[in-house]
Amino acid sequence: MAEASLKRTVARAFARRFLRNVLLPRSGNLATIFMLHRFSDPEHGGPGHAPEFVRQAIAWLRRAGFELISLRRLTRALSGEGRPIRHGVVFTIDDGYLDHATIAAPLFRELSCSVTIFPVASFLDGDVMLWWDQIEHLFRHTERRAVTLSLGTEETSYRWQTDTERDACQHALTWKLKDVPDEVRRSSIEQLAASLQVDLPRQPRRPYLPMSWEQARSLEDSLVSFGPHSLTHPILSRLDDGRARDEIEGSWRRLQSELVDPVPVFCFPNGRRQDFDDRAMRLVADCGLWGALSTEHDHVEDAPLDADPLARFRLPRFGFPNNMTDLIQIVTGVERFKQQLLGG
Ligand SMILES: [Zn+2]
Repeated sequence: MAEASLKRTVARAFARRFLRNVLLPRSGNLATIFMLHRFSDPEHGGPGHAPEFVRQAIAWLRRAGFELISLRRLTRALSGEGRPIRHGVVFTIDDGYLDHATIAAPLFRELSCSVTIFPVASFLDGDVMLWWDQIEHLFRHTERRAVTLSLGTEETSYRWQTDTERDACQHALTWKLKDVPDEVRRSSIEQLAASLQVDLPRQPRRPYLPMSWEQARSLEDSLVSFGPHSLTHPILSRLDDGRARDEIEGSWRRLQSELVDPVPVFCFPNGRRQDFDDRAMRLVADCGLWGALSTEHDHVEDAPLDADPLARFRLPRFGFPNNMTDLIQIVTGVERFKQQLLGG
């Protein structure tokens, strides 16, 4: 027993030394922005980020010497204000679901860790059910086992027998609909409801409820902040100029009128490079916002942004993982190194 415990102690000491001397210096000039979505209920479980893992991850990041900073602090550092950041980590949560108010915000507050939530304005108004939730609701409530949809000029069919196959079809369709114009997506979801013989919900319902503006106001403090994420979560690169401007400017105005001190950083819906164009980045700048976040996976280099005026309008983020191995690989830069190797 004594020998086993000695081996464990030596292994831990070696791992710590490797992290401090080899991996962390590599990530010295980098900040990592994590994006999170739904949270699972600590008592009832379910899909989403497990609060216990978030606790474990944050404790590990602190022990390993990472600086857990707010998005606002990152924007200041990138503007050359304040002390430079060493190994910075920022947490962001997209969309503004009820579980962000009841589970995530209290969790981050308990851990004394800053977090920025990006609510979809019309979702918080209760006017819009998020389209991927509509799709999940339809698949979960149908008795049917197959569906054929026409997406513009193309026909797509899905068949399933088990719940796992049904979920796979639902995810495949959701991914497909990220790449079609807004109107095609809306009409495909109408078709889906008709052919699955399920009423299409228009307003948010359980388990897809938003937090209220009242809740957002009560959460806003030095640790929990909010930033704009559009009015209805469209893919901005597929909208005309007027609607793209309304979505960006309207959501920022809405946040300013509902909250005391929102963060002037826009979060692009969907956020892949094909989902926002240079026009969208310029519209964000025209609204007087400091910058914007994408969902491209990379670190933010803690270096002056002056060379490229649009660089601050496409700051990359990593999806928050669900295990320690992936977390360590991301924050130490190993994951990026792997991606660069794979990308050639
Ligand atoms: Zn979103």
